[in-house]
Amino acid sequence: MLGKLWRGWRSARDEAAVRRRAIPDDLWKRTLVRYPFLQRRDADAAAELRRLTSLFLDRKEFDCTGGLRLTDALAVSIAAQAALPVLRLGIERYDGFVGLVVHPEPVVARREHADDDGVVHEYDEPLAGEAMEGGPVMLVWPDVRRAGQSAAQGYNVVIHEFAHVLDMADGLADGVPLLPPDIDHDAWCAVLDREYETFVARVEREEDTALDPYGASAVEEFFAVASESFFVDPLRLRAEHAALYEQFRNYYGQDPVSDLPAKVLARP
Ligand SMILES: [Zn+2]
Repeated sequence: MLGKLWRGWRSARDEAAVRRRAIPDDLWKRTLVRYPFLQRRDADAAAELRRLTSLFLDRKEFDCTGGLRLTDALAVSIAAQAALPVLRLGIERYDGFVGLVVHPEPVVARREHADDDGVVHEYDEPLAGEAMEGGPVMLVWPDVRRAGQSAAQGYNVVIHEFAHVLDMADGLADGVPLLPPDIDHDAWCAVLDREYETFVARVEREEDTALDPYGASAVEEFFAVASESFFVDPLRLRAEHAALYEQFRNYYGQDPVSDLPAKVLARP
């Protein structure tokens, strides 16, 4: 009985939030044109993505730095791309953080690396985004904005960082998100490790790969990079990592290849 009351209260609260954060039709259409990988063939899935985008806008706080203006178009661009991976998992997966910080240009992080002899080297790493446990999620706007064009290379900074958020939900960044009961933990790790090792070997041989070679730097980066590709360049991920594609299809509860326009599928 209490469970029923709670669910009823929660759905009333969500519907109020969706009304409060309703996305105007023209802005939503422009967002789908700019980021074609957001389009869903199934009308229910398309409506759900728009609903989750409104819920995301309602629950999160955006902070723009360096003179970047917080516009509806910017917020909706980020929210819609972030909502895509949780279309079937639920927006509650992001409840562990509230803040997003958006920068007008790449952020340079000072890094340290100890080599095999224990000598510490300092270097600068330009970042397009960063996620940490409990937030905030940091994103660089030009990279977010170009996501329609960069999809052909399997690149998507928003999905990358939110894949990290999903991965870290159990407190560990290890390529293993909180798994639903029907996915076996050991089976997940077996597929992930096998695909990761194959990928690292290919990168070491300097082969051309569907996935960004950056994914070879650690298994959690492989999970994030493969998740980007799953949503924005799914045919190539499926061709090169069929078992991983299948695993992601079960986990994310989506089959992005089936959402591709017929002309893309027919391409030789
Ligand atoms: Zn990463």
